[in-house]
Amino acid sequence: MKYKDWDTLTEHCRSCSACSLAQTRNNVVVGVGNPNAEVMFVGEGPGEQEDLKGEPFVGRGGQLLDKMLAAVGLSRKHNIYIANIVKCRPPKNRDPLPDEQEACIQWLREQFLLIRPKIIVCLGRVAACRMISPDFKVTRQHGQFIEKGETLMMGTFHPAAILRNPNQKPTAFADFLALRDKIEEVCEHTTLVY
Ligand code: SF4
Repeated sequence: MKYKDWDTLTEHCRSCSACSLAQTRNNVVVGVGNPNAEVMFVGEGPGEQEDLKGEPFVGRGGQLLDKMLAAVGLSRKHNIYIANIVKCRPPKNRDPLPDEQEACIQWLREQFLLIRPKIIVCLGRVAACRMISPDFKVTRQHGQFIEKGETLMMGTFHPAAILRNPNQKPTAFADFLALRDKIEEVCEHTTLVY
């Protein structure tokens, strides 16, 4: 663990140039939310809006995510933290390359060590393959909680994928309901806000 406080971590992350995504980004999207949260969400990387605003999940996918979170008493303002596997936007929203993920994962690791979340929710294939297992299949394994060390991990659909395929919405929402049940079971300091 290299960082003991958020301010230093954030400052250093914002000036990172450890991979080539530094050359095309507008902003480093470090993360957002409550640093004392017991629940952390991890996506794959910033899109166009996120890159412009410097905050994760602020485009149409982010609005859908916020609605689904609100329905189960969660919000980025109160009781969760949201970050991505890579902090800078891959050009044309392509998947982050393995060497970009490898260069950037140090930041997520440091964020994890400061937060020490009880639950991590991986949004989409890239995050789930990196965090849970390399052969993770979202369509088959979504909603299942897997214990890794002292953390429970769950993968579910990326909001952008739900926008592309709205038929997935009820299934994804069922994962959020399962998440709420798990939070009530294991997160003693998390207050759900409606
Ligand atoms: S994507 Fe990550 S490793 Fe690459 S420059 Fe941005 S912060 Fe640094």
